[in-house]
Amino acid sequence: MKSVTVIGSGIIGLSSAITLQEKGFQVRIISKEKINKTLSSKVGAVWFPYSIEPKEKTDHWAGVSYEFYQNEAGSSPGISMIPFLNAYKDLKEEEWVQHLPLGTVREASDSELPQGMKKGLIADVPLAEPPLYLPFLFEMFLNAGGIFELRNVENLAEMAALDTWVVNCTGLGAKILCQDEELHPMRGQILRAEKLAIPSFADPTKKGALSYIINRSGDSVIGGTDYEDDWNESIDPKDTDLILSRLKAFGIKTEPEILEIIVGLRPKRSSVRFEFDPDYPNIFHNYGHGGAGFTVAWGCALELADILSKKGTN
Ligand SMILES: Cc1cc2nc3c(=O)[nH]c(=O)nc-3n(C[C@H](O)[C@H](O)[C@H](O)COP(=O)(O)OP(=O)(O)OC[C@H]3O[C@@H](n4cnc5c(N)ncnc54)[C@H](O)[C@@H]3O)c2cc1C
Repeated sequence: MKSVTVIGSGIIGLSSAITLQEKGFQVRIISKEKINKTLSSKVGAVWFPYSIEPKEKTDHWAGVSYEFYQNEAGSSPGISMIPFLNAYKDLKEEEWVQHLPLGTVREASDSELPQGMKKGLIADVPLAEPPLYLPFLFEMFLNAGGIFELRNVENLAEMAALDTWVVNCTGLGAKILCQDEELHPMRGQILRAEKLAIPSFADPTKKGALSYIINRSGDSVIGGTDYEDDWNESIDPKDTDLILSRLKAFGIKTEPEILEIIVGLRPKRSSVRFEFDPDYPNIFHNYGHGGAGFTVAWGCALELADILSKKGTN
């Protein structure tokens, strides 16, 4: 049987591993963290193509993933479709519309807009709740004969020697592994709160002040910050105040009951690295998905599985 080792057990590693199994590969995942410690396990996660490039590829991956989640909604734990309001300035420049299937977006009425928001679009988008969805994917991977090893991989030479094919889904970990100067963190702080009685929305119109609420089945995620090149993984109380003050500016008077404050570092690049390594041609890189790993994961995974299955064991 053809074999592949996937490095990383976040959303990118798990989706890659499962699609490769579906193509008939025997798959092993190696990860330095258990799934509940990965960045992927901590976040929203709503379908929202935010801070990811290049658009000519990510548009396609986001579209494929949208359809994938739409088909899973209601049957896979943690996957549902939710109404999502997205603030915009200029419709001509509003990429969100172009990512969505035709006919699914409508203009928000004035009464649907939070205070201070001038224009908004509403569409049903996929929601993936990591605490429910990632364990489900992991179980699916194990049930299909997958093997999991908890350990660190030190460098690309070690990685290349692991298997016939190796897929590098190490997120920000690729910075050291690949000596990748392009890859950098975009720090995000978010608040997990008791579920709010306010519809889910995002306002990405103010540069450096992304605000959003994602309502999940048992809680709400309130965001957030997006600081480039910030490696600080500690909670910053100033960011908490900032997030809450932005919420107030939207006319939201309810004081959220905060359950948890979370910090995560988005693996950001000027372009997702999705290619074979030039020096170790049995390694395929699939990392650098910025603020939209969940949004594009299945599009990337299905394309990767096609590429490797065409290569077979040669
Ligand atoms: C605050 C915040 C909110 C976000 N909200 C959303 C959202 O709503 N929607 C959305 O689509 N995206 C969102 N994102 C982005 C999303 O979280 C990331 O794009 C995604 O989690 C990246 O997944 P990944 O699998 O590449 O990385 P990770 O989840 O970080 O997984 C990397 C894996 O590689 C392993 N690894 C790393 N180095 C090594 C090594 N040397 N040896 C062995 N294993 C290694 C790690 O242990 C881990 O298993 C958000 C991000 C943040 C910070």
